[in-house]
Amino acid sequence: MNLILLGPPGAGKGTQAQRLEQKHGLIQLSTGDMLRAAVAAGSEIGREAKAIMDRGELVSDAVVVSIISDRIGQDDARSGFILDGFPRTVAQAEALDHMLNERGLKLNAVIEMKVVDDILVERITGRYSCGKCGFGYHDRFLLPKVAGVCDKCGGTEFKRRADDKAETVSSRLAAYHAQTAPLLPYYQARGVLRAVDGMADIDEVSQQLEGILGQLA
Ligand code: ADP
Ligand code: AMP
Repeated sequence: MNLILLGPPGAGKGTQAQRLEQKHGLIQLSTGDMLRAAVAAGSEIGREAKAIMDRGELVSDAVVVSIISDRIGQDDARSGFILDGFPRTVAQAEALDHMLNERGLKLNAVIEMKVVDDILVERITGRYSCGKCGFGYHDRFLLPKVAGVCDKCGGTEFKRRADDKAETVSSRLAAYHAQTAPLLPYYQARGVLRAVDGMADIDEVSQQLEGILGQLA
């Protein structure tokens, strides 16, 4: 099954993609994670992307389309994937349609995670993750079961994203509304758009997603 989780920064895409990955064996493909890996590696793409990401703007379509096209072509993506943070513009959605057609792949659903802007600032500024396995947490909404120890891998080092600051949230939300929200009518017109209430608590959102996956199966 091939899915897109679509929603503003902090909507819960990564959190739910990690759960779907564990439960259904789908691969989470996050362009944000791929770009952060490029930044950490100091590659040319990473050096160019860093300043743009720090400002909360979008990296060029050409760069992200090329990254995702390479990734979707890898063997492990054949059993199904969840796109998290891609596409983010209509041009990216068109490029995705093209690359899926070329490979004979189908998009089963695009699931909008509906969350109002007001609560996203707290979600984003409280976000952190395990430095070893990348599993995501929140200062208030999702704490490790044992303080300071990752539930998933036992790691004890945690990290925060450079762009998860209150100052950059408004430009990231503006980019979402101007450039990414037009994907909702784009996918609505193709009959693949579904929605969940992303403001419900994390387990409830997972249940809503499981309901949709059940209907698709
Ligand atoms: P996205 O990938 O859409 O940017 P994340 O999945 O990283 O968002 O979630 C942002 C933060 O909010 C994380 O710290 C996560 O633990 C927390 N979070 C995710 N879903 C919920 C929810 N339904 N209720 C409260 N907090 C949530
Ligand atoms: P995310 O981890 O999805 O919140 O993305 C973090 C940042 O990476 C964004 O604010 C953008 O600067 C960049 N980015 C991630 N995915 C894309 C994309 N599909 N198109 C353009 N920029 C992206």
